[in-house]
Amino acid sequence: GAVIEARGLGKTYAEGSLRTPVFDGLDLAVARGETVAILGASGAGKSTLLHLLGGLDTPSAGEVYVDGQKMSALSDAERGRLRNRALGFIYQFHHLLPEFTALENVMLPVVLGGARVPQAEQKARALLDAVGLGHRMAHKPGELSGGERQRAAVARALVNRPGCVLGDEPTGNLDEKTAATVFDLMLDLNRDQRTSLVLVTHDRRLARRLDRVLELHEGRLRELAPDEV
Ligand code: ADP
Ligand code: ADP
Repeated sequence: GAVIEARGLGKTYAEGSLRTPVFDGLDLAVARGETVAILGASGAGKSTLLHLLGGLDTPSAGEVYVDGQKMSALSDAERGRLRNRALGFIYQFHHLLPEFTALENVMLPVVLGGARVPQAEQKARALLDAVGLGHRMAHKPGELSGGERQRAAVARALVNRPGCVLGDEPTGNLDEKTAATVFDLMLDLNRDQRTSLVLVTHDRRLARRLDRVLELHEGRLRELAPDEV
């Protein structure tokens, strides 16, 4: 089955006089291990879609299923637990906690999932090694370079071995060379773990490397043929 699925998904923001839907009736199913890019112009609704898929915002219509569980049927606490267990998030800005070391930042989702500290530390160390930050574990985000911070964010997103990672321009704030390195790393680790990826990007070169490319345009999600990307 799908690791994440949207059925008839719609969103209308309450503010504003027009109340036009950003989109309505979107369907999307992402299979285990599948990588999907979402392209679209600024304002098309890509971030809105990602927020709904991740249970960070409530749809105006339709349903989101994560690991087969209907998000709207869960309490806030249950939704939070499912999100922490089944999903990883990577944003354009790292969102690491500034007062914590890289190791502590990556341990956090494991501890929140109920693991004991030594076990969480072991998992976090393994992931930080995998992203090439074995020598930076005791550094705080302010002591890491931009590329290192995004690699720590990749480690944090994957440490609980989620079924799916949701990424919103995760390399958008990096120079081209660093962006390419972080992107390759993320894709390799995702494939190793058979983690699905839903990636919002406006970078067609990055999008082309994923299994499927969808374009969000005027409220519709259309699959692009390889020669259209
Ligand atoms: P994208 O990520 O593709 O740039 P967004 O999902 O951020 O698009 O925005 C889609 C539309 O929804 C835009 O018109 C934007 O102005 C509007 N929008 C986004 N967030 C809010 C909000 N919190 N309140 C009202 N309108 C919003
Ligand atoms: P990059 O070329 O990846 O952008 P930088 O030139 O920013 O890297 O940093 C080089 C190295 O110095 C990085 O590995 C980073 O961990 C370390 N570093 C950068 N800023 C600090 C700091 N304020 N304190 C400690 N180490 C730092």
